[in-house]
Amino acid sequence: MKFKVLAESFDRVEKVSKRLEMTDFLAELFEKSNADEIARVIYLCQGQLAPPYKDVEIGMGENYAEEAIAKAAGYTKAEVEKEFKKRGDLGLVAEEFLKKKKQQSLFSAELTVEKVFKNLMKIATTEGSGSQQLKIKLLAELLNSASPVEARYLIRIPLGSLRLGIGDPTIMDAFAINLLAEAQKDKELVKTVEKKLKGKKSGEKNAEKKLNEKRKKKRTEELDKKLRLAVREKIEDKYNVHSDLGDLAETLKRNGIKGLEKIKIEPGIPLRPTLAERLPTAEEIIKKLGKCAVEAKYDGFRLAIHKNETKVTIFSRRQEDVTEMFPEIVKAVKDIKANEAIFEGEALAFNEETQEYCPFQITIQRKRKYDIDKMAKEFPLTLFSFDLLYANGKNLMGLPFKKRRERLGKIIGKNKTIILTDAIVTDSAKELEEYFDKSVGKGLEGIIAKDLNAKYIAGARKFSWIKLKRSYKGELGDTIDTVIVGFFKGKGKRTQFGLGGLLTAVYDKKSDSFKSIAKIGTGMSEEMLENLCKILSKIKSEKKPARVESEIKPDIWVEPKYVIEVNADEITKSPIHTAGKAKGKEGLALRFPRMIKLRQDKKPEQATTVKEIEQMFKKQRHVSTGA
Ligand code: ATP
Repeated sequence: MKFKVLAESFDRVEKVSKRLEMTDFLAELFEKSNADEIARVIYLCQGQLAPPYKDVEIGMGENYAEEAIAKAAGYTKAEVEKEFKKRGDLGLVAEEFLKKKKQQSLFSAELTVEKVFKNLMKIATTEGSGSQQLKIKLLAELLNSASPVEARYLIRIPLGSLRLGIGDPTIMDAFAINLLAEAQKDKELVKTVEKKLKGKKSGEKNAEKKLNEKRKKKRTEELDKKLRLAVREKIEDKYNVHSDLGDLAETLKRNGIKGLEKIKIEPGIPLRPTLAERLPTAEEIIKKLGKCAVEAKYDGFRLAIHKNETKVTIFSRRQEDVTEMFPEIVKAVKDIKANEAIFEGEALAFNEETQEYCPFQITIQRKRKYDIDKMAKEFPLTLFSFDLLYANGKNLMGLPFKKRRERLGKIIGKNKTIILTDAIVTDSAKELEEYFDKSVGKGLEGIIAKDLNAKYIAGARKFSWIKLKRSYKGELGDTIDTVIVGFFKGKGKRTQFGLGGLLTAVYDKKSDSFKSIAKIGTGMSEEMLENLCKILSKIKSEKKPARVESEIKPDIWVEPKYVIEVNADEITKSPIHTAGKAKGKEGLALRFPRMIKLRQDKKPEQATTVKEIEQMFKKQRHVSTGA
């Protein structure tokens, strides 16, 4: 594929303000790509060269990009720099300079996606002395052959500022659009979907025959929509156990929907974690689960450990490779009794002698680049393991939880660093409550109750896990993770920080968009304000990002990237916020929201969802009316 086709698609995507239009443009672009190049196209759409877990960072500084632009367009670096200061977007600067290029290059050839990818990969992987000059040369070489609009993206990608706002769910929606024709030919799938449609209209005997033309058309449309959704679900099911959209896209191109069957869980490729629901009391938990396992809830890092013979890889909650941060755990994994395994646990600093759990502030210090070995000696972490998903070639996700835990215990054996989470099995609310109090007394966060017979459901929040936290004793029952979508400049004393408040949103999974829920101005220290202003200024957006839905206009929009944990007194109805808003239905807002901290372990799509907020709102009324 010509890189021009990709650049022009990016330009169209950048201009739209509705997610549906964006999805259609992407579908068109994917349709034009062949099986050999589709993975690269997908990664480039997200400003990457590989799925996030592979940790390939292009990491080019602005300084070097300026030099490359100057070289390619025949200007001085100072001239480029001056324009950058004025415009604040080096992509646009590159576009402008290429329009008024002083020299025609001798070796210019039309750029292909393959060539661009190859050079960017070289830029990402070149190290050592002389590497900077080589990186500049590689980028300038691309710019030499680029049109102005291509130049805009050739600069933005290596700088990490592509920011088209294309989320994983939108990419999967686009795949599903392109697979509709195949789905229509899949008799079995059509039959299942039709059955559901008919079921919906049960009671109307012979309804089919009576349909007039208009209704028939409507029904076909409905069937197509449902078919698309069914395909989309199949894709997401696989994505949940194989977090690589490029790989999935290639499989779909080569073998169609059926190709998905070949995709299996394997060590080294991260899965999406299962998540916990909330209930406010021990009684409600027992009513829902009956006899269940109740585990201590530790406040550390959730880690997924992958062992493949001698190779150990550790993934974070957002599927990033964090192996290097946990040398003591890597060492301990080598001793477990399985050659291949995928298991999960919460890692935190624990003093075995005093049996004390260290506060999260100590555990979090592990998130650093240097002195990790020193930290590992000073505050060694213990991995409290709670689930086993795969062992020695077998996918165990379908087994009941109690069986998985049994096998996990056997595999861990006697290990000092990796141990099982503390747990009891009970069907008594009183016993659950006592265990909760005991856990909180030990400085833990609370408990997680688990359905003994449930499968492991990757990527979903279901009632197979129910959390009960210390903080639930407050009005709202839990903290909420919101995504920053804009900020206000601040008045009075706050003007010095350039930031006075945040506009935040929750995630709507159904529409893959972010819906406003709160303006937040409290809870931030001066240091936090300064830091927020610094990081948010880098992701400013001139207009409302396409996946953001908000009627409130902040002074400055930002790309949905950062998640913050927020406390609030309650959830109230709101005519101005868009979370949960629908025709004839008001939205929901947080009352007296206060920022607690940045949640760097969460991606925006892992923030609290609109559905959860609606459930919490209902629960809250339920409690306050004493019903
Ligand atoms: P969520 O993970 O539900 O989106 P969150 O990241 O804000 O929310 P919590 O609300 O604290 O986390 O609850 C779930 C998390 O608790 C898990 O993701 C895991 O990191 C942690 N955890 C601690 N102890 C356990 C345990 N025994 N079993 C499962 N998870 C545990």
